[in-house]
Amino acid sequence: IPGPEQTDRWIRADRARLIHPNLPDSRTDRTVMVEGRGCHVRDSSGKRYLDAAAVLGMVQVGHGRDEIVAAAAAQMARLECFHLWENMSNDQAIELAVRLTDLAPPGLERAFFTSGGAEGNEIALRMARYFHHRRGRPERTWILSRTSAYHGIGYGSGSVSGLPVYHEGFGPPMPHVHHLTAPDPYHREAYGGEDVTGFCLRELRETIERIGPDRIAAMIGEPVMSVGGAVAPPTDYWPRVAELLRSQGILLIFDEVVTAYGRTGHWFAAEHVAVTPDILVTAKGITSGYIPHGAVLTTEELAATVTGSTGFPIGFTYTGHPTACAVALTNLAIIERENLLDNAMKTGGYLADRLAPLRDLPAVGDIRQAGLMLGIELVADKATRTPLPTGTAPVAQALREDKGIILRGNPRSLLINPPLVMDRGTADELADGLFSVLARVEPDGRI
Ligand code: PLP
Repeated sequence: IPGPEQTDRWIRADRARLIHPNLPDSRTDRTVMVEGRGCHVRDSSGKRYLDAAAVLGMVQVGHGRDEIVAAAAAQMARLECFHLWENMSNDQAIELAVRLTDLAPPGLERAFFTSGGAEGNEIALRMARYFHHRRGRPERTWILSRTSAYHGIGYGSGSVSGLPVYHEGFGPPMPHVHHLTAPDPYHREAYGGEDVTGFCLRELRETIERIGPDRIAAMIGEPVMSVGGAVAPPTDYWPRVAELLRSQGILLIFDEVVTAYGRTGHWFAAEHVAVTPDILVTAKGITSGYIPHGAVLTTEELAATVTGSTGFPIGFTYTGHPTACAVALTNLAIIERENLLDNAMKTGGYLADRLAPLRDLPAVGDIRQAGLMLGIELVADKATRTPLPTGTAPVAQALREDKGIILRGNPRSLLINPPLVMDRGTADELADGLFSVLARVEPDGRI
């Protein structure tokens, strides 16, 4: 563990030299993480934390897995990087494409590699538009998305994201994007007395009519919304949306950047919602975050159309990076060997049971769970379901400072996405910490 002098030097250098996402200049404190094992990490002062966020929802197999370190080192020693340009390939990219398309829902037979989630969504949006272009329908350019969605901060992925903070101050977004209302069963009063799926379908139908079905390329959505609050739609939502889109020739893109590779207790949340999209975007859990990587999976028909006689004209420098692919293969082998999908189901269910009594606390409005993806919506007033005026940030901070529990919050909900290796003892540690902090939350958001 580095001493206080080293920590002070890092903190001063961090303030002077780094730009952090989401950190105002006025905030001068820093927590410098230096090591991790399993579900826990340690900072430079030696303080231990329970990482209930799996960093940013990605460390499926837990921190500090020597097997992954060895796989990366072996691949780097053999062939650290190579590309997939034109007719050149590499063995690890081929093996990973086979593995992923074997695991994926039937029909998703081809893979395109990226280095992260936003890149994956950029590729998906381009694939959808290019598919129609190649099929002689260049006017199909509109993309339907949803409010509260998060799809990354590229130009296209940021434009289809539905949270205002990604739009304000960044100039004109990508044209031909329309945001639909996201389904949120806890806030059903916002749907004007209609049932949630009925409202969303009517809005979708009216939107398709208004824009014109022959001008829409695709709809993008997270099967279970993550940054938006771990919100699963009513069970009939995705099957009925998919049916309507299919009848109009509109492609469906699932953003599974958070949900793929076991988060909801399935390899893909497409299985959880019983719908197979035309394009499925993954990242994060593909390597458990040990190295940046992502994969976009699609159908043979779509892949054959966008590649066509002249080839799909876009790719990244790191598309098919062999070290990232080797890490992904080892990570997927661990998920399978250690039955982590099963553990996500079982420990997720156990954690939900342990958290159920929190519903009696005045500040807890709703608790949602799908595998090891949980959301706790905090309210100032249970009857009106009004959010805390402070948002959830002070609660997340108190959890970190008082209980050593790391998790993220959006303005309304605490988001819990722990490593899929979490055991019951660690789930108890999390539940006890949450109970003691949430019991102290006042209606004005103070703790
Ligand atoms: N899509 C979803 C659902 C996400 O949660 C995220 C990141 O949190 C992204 C896309 C963007 O991924 P990345 O940060 O790897 O670009």
